[in-house]
Amino acid sequence: MDFNSATYVHPNQRGIPTPTKEMQSGCGTCKLCEIDCPTKAIERKGIDELHIDYGKCLQCGQCVTICPDGKLTNSGFIYVIALHREEFYTQYKKGVKETPPILPFSLTENQKRFRKLTQKRGFLYREVAAGGNNTVESELNASFNSVFDSEREGIRCVASPKHADAIVFSGPVSQNMEAPLQTAWDVMSEPKALIACGTEAVSGGLFPKGKLPQEPDLFISGDPPRPDVILQGFRLLLGRFSFQFQEALHKFLESEK
Ligand code: SF4
Ligand code: SF4
Repeated sequence: MDFNSATYVHPNQRGIPTPTKEMQSGCGTCKLCEIDCPTKAIERKGIDELHIDYGKCLQCGQCVTICPDGKLTNSGFIYVIALHREEFYTQYKKGVKETPPILPFSLTENQKRFRKLTQKRGFLYREVAAGGNNTVESELNASFNSVFDSEREGIRCVASPKHADAIVFSGPVSQNMEAPLQTAWDVMSEPKALIACGTEAVSGGLFPKGKLPQEPDLFISGDPPRPDVILQGFRLLLGRFSFQFQEALHKFLESEK
């Protein structure tokens, strides 16, 4: 896969829901999208305001299907990746995105230290399936095939967390998986990174979110995210890919006008 020509919009994926031009005339009061959303990712607020937490969004398309007036569309935008959870909170008013394209977030100290260690050589990770449904694991497996070729970036999976630079976890972190995830984290040496992979890992998705060893250093949403999205997320953490979710979404919506 050529990362330089990779794009955040995929022609065959639903991607995240975004407002259509019809939304500019207002949204009505039906709230059907909010009522029907399985993860309560979308909220109809005030007059003509929609708030969407794309970190909760499964990209299932249900809100688009249920909207009686065609005010939402499956955008095909799939790069729901960020270094800070708050980047996914998006507000629209009359169909216009109100969340600014540039948000005042900088790298945390841990992200800086991890990047310094791994930017050139890549990183080794231990995967922890923390109560998910194995879809994220399937996509992680695919990230090592000859199409996506994770190892070309120096990113490999290892059996023991003692040999790992990062933990990639999937699932909402069920009660029974809180302790194993914590143990895997505790045996790793510093600097280390925690990576939430999949909507359930980012927000819990359909389930309550369990306890994490610390705030993740990277959030990759999607249920599950595609291998190319996962790898672009890893490259973002490494500092090899310059990307800000709100900025990219802003450019995409402008290009759709
Ligand atoms: S989870 Fe499904 S219904 Fe909810 S906002 Fe996302 S696409 Fe819409
Ligand atoms: S987006 Fe569609 S379903 Fe949601 S409140 Fe507006 S009109 Fe209703």
